[in-house]
Amino acid sequence: MSFADLGLSAEVLKAVADAGYTAPTPIQEQAIPFVLIGRDVLGCAQTGTGKTAGFTLPMIDILAAGRARARMPRSLILEPTRELAAQVSNAFETYGKYHKLSMALLIGGESFTDQERKLDRGVDVLIATPGRLLDLFERGKILLSDVKILVIDEADRMLDMGFIPDVERIVGLLPRIRQTLFFSATMPPEIRRLADAFLMNPKEISVAPPASPAALVAQHLVTVQPHDKREALRRLIRNEDVKNAIIFCNRKRDVDILNRSLVKSGFNAAALHGDMPQSKRTETLERFKEGEIRLLVASDVAARGLDIQGMSHVFNFDVPIHAEDYVHRIGRTGRAGREGRAFTLATPEDGRFVAAIAKLIGKDIPTVSLEGLGSAELSEEEGDHRRRSRRGRGRKPQDRGRHEAREPAHRDEPRPEAARRDQPHHPPRENGSQRPPLRERARPVTMDPEGKVTLLPRRDERRDEDDSRVVGFGDHLPAFLAHPPRIARG
Ligand code: AMP
Repeated sequence: MSFADLGLSAEVLKAVADAGYTAPTPIQEQAIPFVLIGRDVLGCAQTGTGKTAGFTLPMIDILAAGRARARMPRSLILEPTRELAAQVSNAFETYGKYHKLSMALLIGGESFTDQERKLDRGVDVLIATPGRLLDLFERGKILLSDVKILVIDEADRMLDMGFIPDVERIVGLLPRIRQTLFFSATMPPEIRRLADAFLMNPKEISVAPPASPAALVAQHLVTVQPHDKREALRRLIRNEDVKNAIIFCNRKRDVDILNRSLVKSGFNAAALHGDMPQSKRTETLERFKEGEIRLLVASDVAARGLDIQGMSHVFNFDVPIHAEDYVHRIGRTGRAGREGRAFTLATPEDGRFVAAIAKLIGKDIPTVSLEGLGSAELSEEEGDHRRRSRRGRGRKPQDRGRHEAREPAHRDEPRPEAARRDQPHHPPRENGSQRPPLRERARPVTMDPEGKVTLLPRRDERRDEDDSRVVGFGDHLPAFLAHPPRIARG
């Protein structure tokens, strides 16, 4: 099938040809005709499948007829991160170059004044992260009653980041009669529930199951002891022919620490994570894309959607806790027909995360060893070492709880309770003899009718295991439970 068979206008076809695309991808082939006739679409597709063009190309043609009114956008695209929003806005510019559609990008970290000025002039396409959109709505700067097309992109990522309540609120502000396009890389029950609520008789499309990492990525596992991780990474970078690479850490704090250590060792590296100001994030990403930065040390903010051509390597400095993140991370390389190489550093306590990845991708990641560095045996048990190092983490009292209690620096940042995956673990205590403060030792508990108290894993212990809710008394052990219950006699 060719693009010409999909029903797109001559202008859009010309822009597509200018972009160098010769044939539509499967998601484009399946979605575009349905979007053009006004059907709702439920697309199970990850980034890299060409889904952005799958919705932007037909939207451009639909929106070509009609004009926007001041502060009343005609279409709305919700993206979980600023980077993805910016990428979609670039796609609109590329594919809409022969149209006169107006567009505004509402993302945190950018000046409100510029964004408001654009909205005042009227926009056909509004691309936004949920938090910033609600901020502007609450300030009366925007009316959503004229939105005819809604796109919810990367819905599962929105869920991970705690944005679903915002998304539900936004959808409640839109006209009920509209066209909705809903994309998600995975369809867990929570996402399916939202899709059922937001879509009317959608055309369901599913391409490239999320468990299939890019075929062109050669994957490697390096097992090391925790204290050898940095050395192992440095050796890998030196041994491999690294043109440019993303090095993923699980936690923002570790991103900064690792970045500083690489720079100190003479590598051309920079950090990227969600706590950095937007201007710095954009600048860093641009410099990485331009080749000025060779190594980008990043949190999972960079795992999805970022389209950086020709990246030679991905390094997982930490094994991702959620197996799907592995697929997303290594999918940053091996793109557009080029080969890529991915290396994952695993320590003994990462055994069960490595096993979960192997289960998801349907094979073991081949192990390689580094000369001079002893390899380590992976354990699928959550070993004593891990438990001890978690329990005994002595953050300063003033630091403790800061992350948990903090309001997000910006509404586009994950909500604290949802950002657990990216939270710093407490650093290991330097003085092993010191007892951790009570609050750190306190565990959630349940008590049965006989008064028997059962200790549950603490929230930070559960974090890496599952996303279940806090039960019982949460993280606190109330003082009265520390004493045996008094039985009244007589
Ligand atoms: P996406 O999944 O939308 O992030 O797209 C991933 C990459 O595929 C982007 O670099 C697009 O420019 C590219 N792309 C989209 N559609 C096509 C196509 N039909 N042929 C070749 N490349 C495409």
